[in-house]
Amino acid sequence: MKEEIDCFSQANKKDIFYECEICHEPISNPICPRCLTYEIGIWATLYPNIRRELLNRLKKYLKTIGKESGGLGSVQCIRCNKKEMPICAYCFINYVLTELEDIGVNKIIKKEFLQFFNYDLGHTPYSYLPLPLS
Ligand SMILES: [Zn+2]
Ligand SMILES: [Zn+2]
Repeated sequence: MKEEIDCFSQANKKDIFYECEICHEPISNPICPRCLTYEIGIWATLYPNIRRELLNRLKKYLKTIGKESGGLGSVQCIRCNKKEMPICAYCFINYVLTELEDIGVNKIIKKEFLQFFNYDLGHTPYSYLPLPLS
């Protein structure tokens, strides 16, 4: 009896860079929007009214992410290990900012939000935003 061993079953995994669906930058620090939404929920507990409104909007938005690609090619989130959200944290935080503006939060809360979620992703810093320095 001759037994064949499959040499390829343990092929090395390649380092693959996935592109963000929105900015087309490689996703190098993958935290999925679902995990970020969870953290935003924690941050926003100080502001119950904003929290309720913002999380409603983000839940709707989460349902639309990755629909086109069906989640294929998504990078694995380092927190929840799921692969379903092919957009980077930077783009998602940017989206959250536009929602915060839409809700009409004041600049102090916006600035606090940015300090909380200012991940170093190698993108353009958020400094273009009209935030007060004092
Ligand atoms: Zn992006
Ligand atoms: Zn996740």
